Amino acid sequence: MTENPPPCPRCSCAYTYEMNALVVCPECGHEWVPAEGAADAGAVGAVAEKVVRDSVGNVLQDGDSVVVVKALKVKGSSSGIKAGTKVRGIRLVDGVDGHDIDCRIDGFGAMQLKSSVVKKS
Ligand SMILES: [Zn+2]
Repeated sequence: MTENPPPCPRCSCAYTYEMNALVVCPECGHEWVPAEGAADAGAVGAVAEKVVRDSVGNVLQDGDSVVVVKALKVKGSSSGIKAGTKVRGIRLVDGVDGHDIDCRIDGFGAMQLKSSVVKKS
């Protein structure tokens, strides 16, 4: 959208170009969000303050521990995640498809969950 992308902040190369939401420098390969995006970043900050609640209405925060309240199917796993599985150190994200918790579950690795399937522990 910017007709003239800003020069590279690293090497001041002027021949930068836009790729998706990023500006890319062909000289040093630096990629960054242009100034316009800075305004958006402010908006994102506001979104980050949105309240995420668990299945019973407790407000969740980064670093909280939660318990999965219902069995979840996991792609590539025959057993899936059982109800009662503890998840430590969640991180709230604005994920795809309503997934707003980023976490790591023993035996499954990193994944995203919906806050509607967990309860703060
Ligand atoms: Zn550069």
